[in-house]
Amino acid sequence: MDSTSGSCNACGATGIALMKLSLGKDFFGRAYDRLSPSTDQSPKWYCEGCSMQKNLQRDFRDIVGEFDKLTACQGSILSTQEEFQRASLRLREIATILSGVAGHSPFLTAADVTQLIGRMQITTMQA
Ligand SMILES: [Zn+2]
Repeated sequence: MDSTSGSCNACGATGIALMKLSLGKDFFGRAYDRLSPSTDQSPKWYCEGCSMQKNLQRDFRDIVGEFDKLTACQGSILSTQEEFQRASLRLREIATILSGVAGHSPFLTAADVTQLIGRMQITTMQA
């Protein structure tokens, strides 16, 4: 809508390269429409740092959603060992990336990610 105004929709940065974030598929390869459905009607524009973090947040929410289903004994993609491993690795990757951008994380906190990693480790030990 206002791509010409030239500010990042998340942090408000101006005067830098902006990219229209393609929402595409979620972490599990499903059509992605859950995180911010309204975005599909009004595309947002993020600077490089924020678009990267938006992707991290999307993956994180996908994984949280599936993990919650897993712990509630509902059908979950994470009941597959392979997907569980892949999600665990991705969370570690997200935590590592976030630890490198301290102080500039409008979407997701490292503490949230660390907490989920801990919960998933406990689940693994019980299995
Ligand atoms: Zn930004």
